[in-house]
Amino acid sequence: MTLSFDDIQKSESQHVLQTYRRQPVAFVRGKGPRLYDVDGREYLDFVSGIGVASLGHAHPGLAAVIADQAGTLLHTSNLYFHPFQAEAAGRLSALSGLARVFFCNSGTEANEACLKFARRHWHTQGATDRVGFVAVEHAFGGRTMGALSVTYDEHYRAPFGPLLGPVTFVNPDSPDALAAAVTDRTAAIIAEPIRGEGGIRPLPRAFSDAIMDICRKTGTLLIADEVQTGLGRTGYPFYSQAIGWEPDLISVGKALGSGVPVGAALVSEKVAATISTGDHGSTYGGNLLATRAAAFFLEQLMDHGLLAHVKTVGDHLERRLRTLALKHPVIRDVRGAGLMRGVDLRIDAAPVIDQARLQGLLVNRTSETVVRLLPPLTIDAADIDAGIDVLDAVLMTVATEVPA
Ligand code: PLP
Repeated sequence: MTLSFDDIQKSESQHVLQTYRRQPVAFVRGKGPRLYDVDGREYLDFVSGIGVASLGHAHPGLAAVIADQAGTLLHTSNLYFHPFQAEAAGRLSALSGLARVFFCNSGTEANEACLKFARRHWHTQGATDRVGFVAVEHAFGGRTMGALSVTYDEHYRAPFGPLLGPVTFVNPDSPDALAAAVTDRTAAIIAEPIRGEGGIRPLPRAFSDAIMDICRKTGTLLIADEVQTGLGRTGYPFYSQAIGWEPDLISVGKALGSGVPVGAALVSEKVAATISTGDHGSTYGGNLLATRAAAFFLEQLMDHGLLAHVKTVGDHLERRLRTLALKHPVIRDVRGAGLMRGVDLRIDAAPVIDQARLQGLLVNRTSETVVRLLPPLTIDAADIDAGIDVLDAVLMTVATEVPA
């Protein structure tokens, strides 16, 4: 029996903890950059499950690998060895230049691991009071206590205090404020090279340079949160590389499993040397299914031209968005890199998101006024054009009245 949308919604409202505000649509299948709802309607997916479905939906190669692994062995725990952690880790090291990898199950957990490893690094050296973190305004690190502590938005944080401390948030327009915030008690600076949930906001050049400069001068560790920007999304393996950072730790998630939940903390040799057996762990982290999927994605990215493809289609997307901005005064700004773009409007983006969905395009809102575009990394120029044409039509109808 096929359930209707109303059946699904009603049943969820009775049984599922109501922490999410969902859009009124239920998807049952996908193919490449397209999704299909319970009624068979087709949508172009410029959300990718929030930057996760990096290879698009129902990728035949990934599906075959997952099916093979499901029929062979899914999980054994970290009590034992298996072949795929080292395979995925080797590729992550080759991409990042960081020597060692800890596998977990999400971006949040990757940030938790990085925060722990940073503290552990100083603790091992006897600097037991070097426990603070410096983060950036509009940062998003996740919802567990540690990751939440380095998340800026008060409405995520306020009901859950007291959180981890001390954490200082710095305005990225002020390199001087950064210099003042970093003290001899700071374990690490944690920052996204482009803040994703915070509105697709790249860091100003002076600020990202100041981060690297201060870390070099003071020995403070740099944690690059590349959960959203990493693994090809911006046309670079890591956006840290584009802005001249040399992080000690990088957190990744989202794109890594192309839909199979997996995250990782990438760790420099210097930090790894201060971590001991038993310092961190996870029952599921790095299981056979997750790391085989990750290894498959990384192989596509590195050996099958996916990274070069993102650069090409990312430039195309940027050109289309710049043209759109010239046409629609409601667009205040276009930001981002590669296939991670934000269209900042002079109005609330919610009606644009709704209208786009009704016209068969999935985009999402972040930071109130920003239409966020995160299509699958495999999308082609024709589908980008099709999506931007819908956005164009929606902006014509929704945004007719622009506030002065
Ligand atoms: N860090 C960044 C930059 C993110 O964008 C996100 C999620 O949006 C996270 C961390 C948390 O990742 P997850 O939701 O997989 O736990």
